[in-house]
Amino acid sequence: MESGNSISAKSKELQQIMNSHLCNRCGSCVGLSEGAIEFIDREGKYYPKIVKALHDEQVEKIYHACSGKYFDFPRYRELFYPDTTNFHTYTGPYEKIGIGHAVDPDLRINAASGGIITTSLIYLLKTGKIDGAVTTRMNPKVPWQAEAFIATTREEIIESAQSKYCITSVNEILPQMEAFKGKLAYVGIPPQVQSIRKLQEVNDPSVKNIEYIFGPFYGNTLHFTSVKALLRSYKVKDFTQITKLYFRHGEWPGNMRVELKSDKVIELKKFHANYLIPFYILKNSLFCTDLANEFTDLSVGDAWAPVYEERGKGFSLILTRNNKGQNLLNEMINAGWLNFEEITENEAISMHSHGYDLKKRGAFIRIRLRKLFGKPVPDYGYELKDFPLSRYLMEYIISFMFLVLGTWPARRFIGLFSPEFVGKFFEKARTLWKKSSYKIKRADLH
Ligand SMILES: Cc1cc2nc3c(=O)[nH]c(=O)nc-3n(C[C@H](O)[C@H](O)[C@H](O)COP(=O)(O)OP(=O)(O)OC[C@H]3O[C@@H](n4cnc5c(N)ncnc54)[C@H](O)[C@@H]3O)c2cc1C
Repeated sequence: MESGNSISAKSKELQQIMNSHLCNRCGSCVGLSEGAIEFIDREGKYYPKIVKALHDEQVEKIYHACSGKYFDFPRYRELFYPDTTNFHTYTGPYEKIGIGHAVDPDLRINAASGGIITTSLIYLLKTGKIDGAVTTRMNPKVPWQAEAFIATTREEIIESAQSKYCITSVNEILPQMEAFKGKLAYVGIPPQVQSIRKLQEVNDPSVKNIEYIFGPFYGNTLHFTSVKALLRSYKVKDFTQITKLYFRHGEWPGNMRVELKSDKVIELKKFHANYLIPFYILKNSLFCTDLANEFTDLSVGDAWAPVYEERGKGFSLILTRNNKGQNLLNEMINAGWLNFEEITENEAISMHSHGYDLKKRGAFIRIRLRKLFGKPVPDYGYELKDFPLSRYLMEYIISFMFLVLGTWPARRFIGLFSPEFVGKFFEKARTLWKKSSYKIKRADLH
């Protein structure tokens, strides 16, 4: 809990968060620090560092905004979703759940799944409901790094489409958001959104312009070292040769694609590139219990079900979380911008049963395990427990696997093989693992 601590205790705790897996790199501390905190080593560990002394007021503000150590789900749900009709511990609050996609084929194909977020931002801009959108693109000057910015045109919004499976720190640009003259829509992954909600709670001026909050589902993200390792496997040693980096290029589910100055192009199916996850995962993702971006107005995931996967083209799972999100969705459907078909809560949970199991059971078991070893853990104001014994055992195996595969020798070893070969092997192993652990994962899931 955050109340009652002295400034020096808060300052000490902030340092502890920054130096541990508690830090989710949301960027709020950097954005609120007036230059006193900077991100260091973005192409490696990517962590915030205090470079100038913080004054007491800054410590207070940053400590409150930090979502790494503390975010009370039940309390913030009560605060921000008092009138929302439905709730499930896995999905969070919602009005409706459905499958949909953008009607515009270009927006759909250019996006991560169905192009829902991109289309929503363009619709809001076109209808004058916002003047800009806080989104994330690959930095045009440093094309291997993601950067948050305020998009004010349709072209800029399209440029920022697609998922970036690398560390992003959207809230670094809180000062630009504060200085912006007009209304904003904001897009972020759950830890970033949680911090925005904490800032809204105290009416911080940095978030005063935000009218809408959108966000993708969030399984995990990777360190940039994953891209470096991929390049090394293709005998490319210098990552600054990258001219374009896509994580989901082309038709859904898309390919990881790296374009180089030499005109060489490296392309790997998304499902094959997933082999990088256990080796280069940002450890904080393993302690994040929010898959569905529960504190947005509207959140979007991939429609992972054979019926949609077979059809390609891109389908999204959409959750509207309050009247604001629902009204916007209705308007876009009526205006012919989006297709949407409602599904049940059970169908939605089944579609993402693997992800929910990872976040709503696995993460809580991992948190308890860390606590047992005396390591700092996040406090979410609630805890899910009492899973079947088999599920605990499975998690211990997974945690051990992440521990081993994240080491330097394991990374070197896997780098000896071609990514195509490892990717195919990984995809097969994952399917086998999913099938064999299906019963354990599904036991008491609802
Ligand atoms: C790191 C990450 C992990 C994900 N894990 C899952 C998962 O496990 N299961 C699942 O079903 N879906 C997951 N998603 C969501 C999925 O990939 C799509 O983003 C989602 O379906 C939205 O699709 P869309 O076509 O509407 O998005 P688009 O129209 O392509 O818009 C995506 C929006 O998200 C913003 N964005 C992209 N990446 C980031 C980022 N890293 N940080 C902040 N903003 C970002 C973009 O700037 C853009 O505004 C993940 C997304 C990310 C970024």
